[in-house]
Formats: sequence, C-alpha cells, structure tokens
Amino acid sequence: MPDFFIDGEWVAAHAGGSREIRCPADGSLTGTVDEGTREDTEAAIAAARRAFDAGGWPSTPAATRGDLLLRVADLVERDRDAYARAESLDTGKRLVESEYDLADVAACFRYFGKLAGQRAGRVVDAGSDVLSRIVYEPVGVCGLITPWNYPLLQTAWKVAPALAAGNTFVLKPSELTPHTAILLMRTLTEAGLPAGVANLVLGAGPAVGAPLAEHVDVDLVSFTGGPATGRRIAASAAATVKKVALELGGKNPNVVFADADFETAVDYALTAVFLHSGQVCSAGARLIVQEELHDRLVDEVVRRAERIRLGGPFDPDAETGPLISAAHLAKVEQYVERAVAEGAVLRTGGRRAEDPRLAGGFYYLPTVLDDVRQGGFAVTEESFGPVLTVETFTDENDAVRIANDTHYGLAGAVFTSDASRAQRVANRLRHGTVWINDYHPYLPQAEWGGFKQSGFGRELGQTGLGEYQEAKHIYQNLRPRPSGWFRG
Ligand code: NAD
Repeated sequence: MPDFFIDGEWVAAHAGGSREIRCPADGSLTGTVDEGTREDTEAAIAAARRAFDAGGWPSTPAATRGDLLLRVADLVERDRDAYARAESLDTGKRLVESEYDLADVAACFRYFGKLAGQRAGRVVDAGSDVLSRIVYEPVGVCGLITPWNYPLLQTAWKVAPALAAGNTFVLKPSELTPHTAILLMRTLTEAGLPAGVANLVLGAGPAVGAPLAEHVDVDLVSFTGGPATGRRIAASAAATVKKVALELGGKNPNVVFADADFETAVDYALTAVFLHSGQVCSAGARLIVQEELHDRLVDEVVRRAERIRLGGPFDPDAETGPLISAAHLAKVEQYVERAVAEGAVLRTGGRRAEDPRLAGGFYYLPTVLDDVRQGGFAVTEESFGPVLTVETFTDENDAVRIANDTHYGLAGAVFTSDASRAQRVANRLRHGTVWINDYHPYLPQAEWGGFKQSGFGRELGQTGLGEYQEAKHIYQNLRPRPSGWFRG
C-alpha cells in the first residue's frame, strides 16, 4: 500500500522513490516507505489548498471539529499497542516510553478537542449603536514539519490545534520515523475528517520539507527541529511572508542549590539528561551545582550513571535506548571529543557501548563532563545525546547569571528547599519552561516554547491554539447615517 495521503487517497511517490527504515536498536528493517520529491509536496499543498478554499472544514462549527478530535483521542487509545510498537521500532525507544508518549498524544487531542469550541470569538463593547465582534478564523494551509525524537507527540502538538482551528495541512515527519504519521492519517480518516484536510508526504528535508516553507499557497509553517534547519525555514518563509512557528533546540540548565533534597536532586539530574538518551529538546544537559555540593552530587551522579542499563525497545530490563542513527552517534562522539580537548574532565562514559548484546545498535554510554569551561563549546552547544556537563556557582546571583548565559532559552530547573528562592530564581530564568524541584513534566494546557534562539511561537495551551488562528474584527454600524466628514 502506498504511503502518501493526498486528497483522501493513498498514493505512491511521483518519481517512484523509496526508503528503508531501520530500527536504531539493532539495525533490523522496520519497513520500506515511499520517498517523495518536490512534486509530491506540491500535489499535497494543492489538495490542502482546495480543501481549505472549498470552505467545508474551516466553516464547520468549532465544537463539531472538537468532537472529531475527541474521537481521534479515543481511537489512538484503542490502537495504542500498534502505535507504540511502530514508534519504538522507528526510534529504538523502549516500548514503555512509547506507551507514555501515546497517552500524551491522546491527552493532547482531548485537550484541543475541548478547547476548540471555547474560543469561538467575543463581542467588544463599542456602544449601543455598534456591533463589534472578534472572530477567530483558521490561518489556511499549514505546513507541519516534525523531528524524530518524539515523532507522534510532536505531530500531535501541531495537528490537534491546526484541526481545532479549522485549518488544512500537509505533514512532513522526519524521514527517519514515518510510521506513526501514516497510522495517524488512518485514524483521522476513521474519525471522519473530510478528504484533503489532512495530507502526508514523506522524505528528506530539502526535497519535501523545503517546498512547504517556500510555497505561496502555504499560509503557515510550524517546525520542530534543529536550529540550523529552523533558520533556513524562517528565511525561505520570509519570501512569502507566511506565519512561522519554530521550536528549536536547547542547552538547558539544571540548577541545584546545596540545600536541595539530595536524593531528589540526584534522581532528577539523571532523568533530566539521560531520559531517551538525551534526545529531548528540553534535556537538562547543563548541571549547575552550588560549589559546596559539587563533589558529593557529581560523585553520586557518576556512580548512578554507570549503572544505567541500555537496551532495545523490548528489553524489559533496559532503562534507556540507542541514539537515532549512525550519523547522530558520530556527532555525539565528536562532541565529547571536542569538549575533552577543550579541557572538560571526562568522569564517565565518553565512548560507544561495547556490550555484544547491543551489537548493531547506535548506543552511547551515559557521559558526565566535569569542570567545563564557562562560555566554551560544551556549555553553549547542544549534543542531543546522553552527555551531562557540570559547572559550579557560588550564590543565587551567580546561578542565575550562569543559567542565562546561553543563546538558547527552552527550559530549565531549580532544585532548592527554600521556596522563596525557588520562585525568585524561576522568575529570573530566561527560559520558556522552568521546573522547581522537578524535571520534564509538561501539560497540554500549559504553553510550551522557547525564548531567544530556542525559537518563537508557542505550542499547547490557549496560545498554542492561537498560533493557528487569525483574529478578525467585524464592526457593524447599527444606526447608519452620513458622517458629514466631507461637507462638499
Ligand atoms: P532537523 O532540523 O534535522 O530535522 C527536523 C525536520 O526538519 C525533519 O523532518 C527534517 O526532514 C526537516 N528538514 C530538514 N531540512 C529541512 C529543510 N531544508 N527544509 C525543511 N525541512 C527540513 O532536526 P532533527 O535532527 O530531526 O531533530 C533534532 C533537533 O530538533 C534538535 O536540535 C532538537 O533540539 C530539536 N527539537 C526541538 C524540540 C522543541 O520542542 N523545541 C523538540 C524536538 C526536537
């Protein structure tokens, strides 16, 4: 069966291309999918444009669109096992992590399903002779470009609000992890979405993603991925002045004061950075610890990092999995080599896993780099792998200064038992999400996004829906008569 979904039909790649998808845990073949070119993307854009201009979906009552999203949530839950298995085979992540992701996907569709009908518009008081209304309309055709680390979840963050607002879209998932996007098209169809509203093309970024940013018939492009790609997309979208939302990377500070609960701080220092082997945009990859706690905390983090068990999706004892590809593994390896050359002290890890059990997979050991140079490469650049860098601070002002000394601003955390200090530090951190005595939780009803070069625009929450809406002001004079401005 062909893999592109265009105008309600499953179609094959125009030029006949295909791509093998292999599981990063052992290199086994997961599937072979169609590989697109610019022509395929253009066909999908044309279908989305026709569906939008025909007006059916955009003019469907928002609450009815919301009902459809609630059905999607139910269907995702019904098909959770098939989705989770496909996600784990594509990404190499543990099945249980994919199951968590699936629960979050359903929650996201449910949240926007309920929100859809609640943001219908408002009346503005302009006196009794005027009816002044703000209505929220869909933006139009959306190009949605997503990464490989949370393939379906990042897709849901875009697809759910885009549909709630009445848009049509073309989705281009990462070429490495396409399978759950294919399943999602089936689910949307089963839920009753009209033909042409949701369209899917697969393939490489420059061939299939770039046309979404460039095309005049795309009104909005929402992108999650790396900073270099984000800059390219924003630049090409500027030519047609389309709306752009960018969710880029981060090098996120995890600030630990000496008065933090020790066991909690150790536990979260590990999950902050080693969850999904660090392939998390909000990973707490910068441990910033108060001087007097440094030795004790880092010794314990190193000891526990060495005990983390690596393994594939179906290994019940595994605690985290492989990196996504050979190319990414090489990148992380070079990152660590460069950091060490710059003077970082390698406390543990710093090499590929040698366990024969993991042969064929792209495994890198949990790595801790101590004494990194402030302002140096290792603290300013993202590794997107299982690499923790350690810096120290003296007092509260120093902690804030160091945590903000980055061109990124996606997320960060502060661990302390002083509740007032926790709030003061959280207020001063220039990051889009700040956790206090916790790391990683997010809520569909709470906005997510970056300050500074971590991007612009917000996903989730009411603002996340607003990204996909145009606010229109309709002003009616209820007592029309000549104004007399010009007297002649
Ligand atoms: P990437 O930028 O290489 O790819 C992301 C997507 O963009 C893929 O679908 C890819 O095919 C596409 N793409 C590549 N070149 C393109 C082009 N010229 N035009 C249009 N599309 C193009 O990123 P990645 O390696 O897949 O993901 C890792 C990066 O994503 C990390 O830097 C990470 O921090 C970031 N990320 C951020 C968030 C967030 O919420 N802020 C979430 C996940 C990942």
